[in-house]
Amino acid sequence: MAEILVIAEQRDGAFRSASLEAIAAANSVKGEDDRLAVAIIGADPNAFVSDLSVEGVDEVIAIKAGSNDFQPDLVEAVVATLAEARKPALIAAAHGVDAWSYAPTVAAKLGFGFASDVQALRYEDGQLVATRAGYAEKVLVDLDFPGKEVVLVTIRTNVFDPAGGVGAPTVTAMDAPACEVSTTHVGWKEPEDAGGIDIPGSDFILSIGRGVGDESNVEQFLEMADQLGATLGCSRPIADNGWLPKARQVGQSGQLAANCRLYIAMGVSGSVQHQWGMKHVETIVAVNTDPEASIFSIARYGVVGDMFEIAEELENHF
Ligand SMILES: Cc1cc2nc3c(=O)[nH]c(=O)nc-3n(C[C@H](O)[C@H](O)[C@H](O)COP(=O)(O)OP(=O)(O)OC[C@H]3O[C@@H](n4cnc5c(N)ncnc54)[C@H](O)[C@@H]3O)c2cc1C
Repeated sequence: MAEILVIAEQRDGAFRSASLEAIAAANSVKGEDDRLAVAIIGADPNAFVSDLSVEGVDEVIAIKAGSNDFQPDLVEAVVATLAEARKPALIAAAHGVDAWSYAPTVAAKLGFGFASDVQALRYEDGQLVATRAGYAEKVLVDLDFPGKEVVLVTIRTNVFDPAGGVGAPTVTAMDAPACEVSTTHVGWKEPEDAGGIDIPGSDFILSIGRGVGDESNVEQFLEMADQLGATLGCSRPIADNGWLPKARQVGQSGQLAANCRLYIAMGVSGSVQHQWGMKHVETIVAVNTDPEASIFSIARYGVVGDMFEIAEELENHF
């Protein structure tokens, strides 16, 4: 029997649903005899037990801390304490700002195997194999961890369906271990006012890129998106130029088109950073004058052509 440990997250007292994706990743390699324990740290950790009572979770470890503030040193101490006590073969956490600040450090300090931004897990001949992207997302890389008794992985979000169903985990209460805290929580960044623009919540996005040419051409695509019932998205240069608000930017440093089912990309080349926010979408339609544009490599339907001519064609069919 192997023990698997997931480090779940809360932010300012609100449960982070990305933790359910880390649980799903753990479940994907959990054998019948394995045990999955999920640890969560907070001022009132019991408040998260119901969020974590999903299929596959055998135990919730509710760790009481002095506040809900995120402290990487504290999470490091928790992982070290639980690793020592439980000897998990696998530790998983969501790939995000929290894990970025403690996971590599704790893995290096404790000599764990480590892989970040993992998209798939499997066992091969009894050895864990983690799949992640490499070379700026151009290839998928399989990593194994020879000689490592514990492997810590961070799980890419929006790859695993969040764990669901109803579980009946036991709950273990624990006080946060004492540790020296070297960081100070100064406050939370106020969310930018998105002015009602909801890229993550939209199921149909029409995105424009630098192919739009000039700011004066943007308005017609706003109108077109409106007529189509789509949300207008854009690539970063369009937002950087101030032609559209940042809330419309799709990609790594913008928004994730998390719930999108149809994504029309017009005049977007398809950089890895843009793809980060939309390549998972089921139906991608690309319009680009350059047949070699990268966007075509992920598009289900591609039109090699001028976005203004295609827009006109579409408008004729409204
Ligand atoms: C750290 C970092 C983070 C980043 N984050 C993001 C991000 O979140 N989102 C993002 O989008 N980018 C991001 N970028 C920028 C990214 O690298 C690209 O520069 C950007 O995505 C390119 O935008 P684009 O496709 O609109 O422009 P271009 O790459 O210039 O592509 C324009 C495309 O339009 C086509 N075209 C031209 N005229 C027409 C026409 N009339 N009809 C049809 N097609 C036409 C061209 O063939 C070309 O393929 C980031 C970069 C870095 C370094």
